[in-house]
Amino acid sequence: MKRILITGAAGFLGSHLCDRFISEGYEVVGMDNLITGDLKNIEHLFHLERFSFFHHDVSKFVHVPGELDYILHFASPASPIDYLKIPIQTLKVGSLGTHNLLGLAKNKKARILVASTSEVYGDPHVHPQNEDYWGNVNPVGPRGVYDEAKRFQEAITMAYHTYHGVETRIVRIFNTYGPRMRLNDGRVLPAFIGQAIRGEDLTIFGDGSQTRSFCYVDDLIEGIYRLLLSDYAYPVNVGNPDEITIGEFAEEILKLTGANQKVVYHPLPKDDPKQRQPDITRAREILGWEPQISRAEGLKRTYAYFKTLSPEEINKREHRFS
Ligand code: UDP
Repeated sequence: MKRILITGAAGFLGSHLCDRFISEGYEVVGMDNLITGDLKNIEHLFHLERFSFFHHDVSKFVHVPGELDYILHFASPASPIDYLKIPIQTLKVGSLGTHNLLGLAKNKKARILVASTSEVYGDPHVHPQNEDYWGNVNPVGPRGVYDEAKRFQEAITMAYHTYHGVETRIVRIFNTYGPRMRLNDGRVLPAFIGQAIRGEDLTIFGDGSQTRSFCYVDDLIEGIYRLLLSDYAYPVNVGNPDEITIGEFAEEILKLTGANQKVVYHPLPKDDPKQRQPDITRAREILGWEPQISRAEGLKRTYAYFKTLSPEEINKREHRFS
């Protein structure tokens, strides 16, 4: 039986990865410091003999007894509201945390896949973004703590590959959504759906002409699974190229939820990327992968999940760090 360590296991993506690798027959070791993750995302796994969990911050030395075949490093705050509230931890988990996990991979002779992000492209001048584009990032702006940590993460991962021969994989994740996103994480999709459910106006930042391309979580997990098992060490974009403006997206959410509120406009946050769309040519060629789930279907499933939350969770507007 293969054994895999998943950091950020209690988070949105980490918990879906735990489910996937359990269903593939792996022994899964989850790790999370629970700052942004939530045990309720993985509590259904605790009774399994093939699942174990360490409450640990990977920015500190990581010890895992026994052998490991694979490591997935998914621990990090990942929404602008989170990394603006805990900027130093964000920098540490992307840099020190990645360093610790690369060291662990080297010791255990394990293959490691690190979660990078479309944020490495910053506010891009190339559209759609392909992996050879180096990006347009402001290191000292509000997003710098996340973007630069992830850029450093890619650099140190390639260095361990080149100088220590560690088997490494780098996935650049574009906007992803689905069940287990936090309704109050500040990202646009949970923000809009939460507002629609609570009967509030939808808050569009800027004039709503900025674009994003949203990938349903099951598609993303499939891409990551294939990349881990591939032999490709350079970065691969995984995301859905179906691009939409935030203004149109708000209209879609209002239609989906049947809400009859209006949209209201707020100032655009500093350094907010104007457009974002993954070029997934590389993923198509190397992984034989492309998204299967349309936004209409994915939104339906995600809305169904948010509707199962308790009124308390739906009304929890105050973020846990504020
Ligand atoms: N956004 C918005 N209203 C909100 C939250 C976000 O208009 O209530 C916008 C935000 O300015 C950005 C886009 O939606 O242009 C996506 O934001 P998100 O925080 O989800 O992720 P990003 O892709 O910017 O990291």
